[in-house]
Amino acid sequence: VSCTELTKSYLEEIEKSNGELNAYVNVTPDTALETAKTVDEKIAKGEEIGMLEGVPMTLKDNLSTKDIETTCCSKILKGYKPIYNATVWENLSAQNAVMLGKTNMDEFAMGSSCETSCFGGAMNPFNTKYVSGGSSGGVASAVGANIAAYGLGSDTGGSIRQPASFCGIVGLKPTYGSVSRYGLIAYASSLDQIGPITKSVEDASIVFDAISQYDEKDSTSKGNVGGATYGKLNNDIKGMKIGIAREYLDGIRDDVKEAVLNAAKVYESLGAEIVYFDMPALKFALPVYYIIACAEASSNLGRYDGIRFGYKTPHYNGTHDMICRTRSEGFGEEVKRRILLGTYVLSAGYYDAYYKKAQNLRGTIVKAFTDAFEHCDVILAPTVPMTAFEAGHAVSDPIETYLTDICTVPVNIAGLPGVSVPCGFNANGMPIGMQLIGKSFGEAEILNAAFKYQ
Ligand code: GLN
Repeated sequence: VSCTELTKSYLEEIEKSNGELNAYVNVTPDTALETAKTVDEKIAKGEEIGMLEGVPMTLKDNLSTKDIETTCCSKILKGYKPIYNATVWENLSAQNAVMLGKTNMDEFAMGSSCETSCFGGAMNPFNTKYVSGGSSGGVASAVGANIAAYGLGSDTGGSIRQPASFCGIVGLKPTYGSVSRYGLIAYASSLDQIGPITKSVEDASIVFDAISQYDEKDSTSKGNVGGATYGKLNNDIKGMKIGIAREYLDGIRDDVKEAVLNAAKVYESLGAEIVYFDMPALKFALPVYYIIACAEASSNLGRYDGIRFGYKTPHYNGTHDMICRTRSEGFGEEVKRRILLGTYVLSAGYYDAYYKKAQNLRGTIVKAFTDAFEHCDVILAPTVPMTAFEAGHAVSDPIETYLTDICTVPVNIAGLPGVSVPCGFNANGMPIGMQLIGKSFGEAEILNAAFKYQ
């Protein structure tokens, strides 16, 4: 088939199934078909085609796309069209990636079920009564349902790995600094990282290699220090030490624990060595994450004032009233909750008790990982303590929802790479995911281990 035909068939599938899935919030057929045409012309001329060229894909709606609405699925950014592209999108469009559209997410990437989106949640392709996960639920739903070949999401505390796990696909959260954050609308800048959500480990490796480039526009960018991953996928893993921290198995639902321990057996049969150890510092991870993430979010979201971007309240009395009304009307409940929590932990009198303490404990967690990697090459853990839940459950109880992030947040706190890979199904046929965590810039190693398992 030609690239145009391929793109058209994806667009037709989107037309058919997006009503139920709600994965896409904005479909961009004109842009997609224009790129497809360029690729077809290259093929007709007999030019060489790159691995990602002409492949239909999607971007989470917090990645800036020039002249294409980018909303973070928030009322406050409705109608906002960036005047520049995120660097990751520059990287991929330079390779003629065919973007089918922008996908659904929790508002400003705050959530674990995609249900805080102002467009309503994206649903799980395995059962559309269930959530797709969050916050990159739209990408995971689209890739899982084959209405995008792959997508890019962002992961601040699990938003790539958790929805990938819920939808039975692969999600890679890269090392902090390996992928440029320029043009990613910030949630918590010291934790945010962009990465691929794909059907296979091989695809994740190809996309990661394409987007992990040094970028002078992001002051924290380092590029792919670990080198390209694709050529190392099939390396022998005999003698690889795979660590299991006992704390990662605490409070995990039985079916998930069993699937992860079965994966450990598979690794043993492949010649890897399983080592158990303790990581007591993991118990601090969740409170540390929610303090730091909310603190940074309260600062990052200060810019939505009704003057510079998107929504502005129609009726007001002076500037102060305009800003208050715009923010009250424009932000959803979860975003407001986090701005308030963040402002509280940063305010004079509470800073030392919460924010400073969290920063100190962040150091403790970083050190715990450094120590852990004295015992092993990669760490194996569940991605989420359970499988996808029914829609309507998460929003009613925020604390319960926060608790489900327990296995994903440690990696963001320490800036390490983590990949979620499917490792079985529960009794209801919903997918289970496991997570492989690597050393800083150790993407090649975890993708190698993931590839061998798959
Ligand atoms: N669920 C987590 C949160 O709500 C993680 C979100 C993310 O990684 N963007 O903050």
